Amino acid sequence: MNLLEKLDAAAAARKAMLPEGIGAFGVPIEEVYSATEARIGDRRVLLLGTNNYLGLSFSPKCIQAAHDALDAEGTGTTGSRMANGSYYGHRALEQEFADFYGYCAGIVFTTGYQANLGTISGLVGRGDTVLIDSDSHASIYDGCILSGAEIIRFKHNDIADMGKRLRRLGERTENTLIIVEGIYSMLGDQAPLTEIVNLKNRYNCTLLLDEAHSLGVLGETGQGLVEKTGLQKEVDFITGTFSKSLCSIGGFCVSNHPQLDQLRYISHPYIFTASPSPATIASARAALVLLREGKDLRKQLWLNSTQLYAHLKKTGYKLGPEPGPVIAAVLDSPKQALRIWQGLLENNIYVNLILPPAAPEGKSLIRCSVNAAHTTEQITYVGDTFAKLYQQQILNS
Ligand code: PMP
Repeated sequence: MNLLEKLDAAAAARKAMLPEGIGAFGVPIEEVYSATEARIGDRRVLLLGTNNYLGLSFSPKCIQAAHDALDAEGTGTTGSRMANGSYYGHRALEQEFADFYGYCAGIVFTTGYQANLGTISGLVGRGDTVLIDSDSHASIYDGCILSGAEIIRFKHNDIADMGKRLRRLGERTENTLIIVEGIYSMLGDQAPLTEIVNLKNRYNCTLLLDEAHSLGVLGETGQGLVEKTGLQKEVDFITGTFSKSLCSIGGFCVSNHPQLDQLRYISHPYIFTASPSPATIASARAALVLLREGKDLRKQLWLNSTQLYAHLKKTGYKLGPEPGPVIAAVLDSPKQALRIWQGLLENNIYVNLILPPAAPEGKSLIRCSVNAAHTTEQITYVGDTFAKLYQQQILNS
């Protein structure tokens, strides 16, 4: 099979899963009206498939900050910070992130994906080990591959399995980086951070926590799982993204180890790419202020999340293990998931369809993400529609 034939085979496999004419991936969104509504085709839909957890995508303060930066500094930085210079806003945001976590150092990356690639490949290399959760995001896997370190996976959120693998590593644990996520992006559950920290300390490893989905969502000021558990002093490195609660583009790593700064000199995903545009940095800075002060937004987000989780559970859907803004219904087959996804869209609700091999353990998921801007009526409508589809597509099929 030549290179192009391999792509044809991949296209055929995808087509076999999706009936003709159904474009469930890369759905064209024609217009966006607000943090909760958009137009898909000729439908005005309710958005439940974005990661806009605090609903800040149309925040006037963030929009104004982006406008001001565009006017003052232009559309792009046109290069890497190491080679082409480091703008004030990027440096300020690094300090603001470090201050937010009470850490001594912060680095901004161009995306959250690159934050993981750059941090992991900067911290470990050939001869080192990474111990990662089996449900880790692709950016974690790719960062590990780029690093050349040996990759060992433990069963998702399984402390006993993690401990077993650490024991087997013997003296190598000193050069082992453990990587976990605050909230996992597929099933929406949280890492058992206290137990993970206990193991990290017992075996003298280094711990990286990706707060991509938990930033703005967990903790009094929205730091994430690290704040909810009070473990700021125990976590060595925290990565995250601007693309979810902060409604911009970019990523960060913060740490209380001053050595973090060395990543700027060795980490290819930091050095060999252009830095984020001034406008994206400016809106992220404005959003970080709102996020820190966003206690009421978090309260509303959790009310919405627990309302929908309880509604779907009562209906009979199999869900991820705990409520949160990411709510995944686990369906019996890709076909069933596709029917529910289509049914929701026909009722003007947009959610994410996740089919094998993208979902963990070959599962087929309907993934909803709830945000603080959804109204109680909207969440009730979504729950009622899921219930109607459960009757039609699961009980009576
Ligand atoms: N980490 C996790 C856990 C994620 O879910 C994502 C994005 N879905 C990223 C990192 C990458 O973030 P970004 O979209 O900013 O590249």
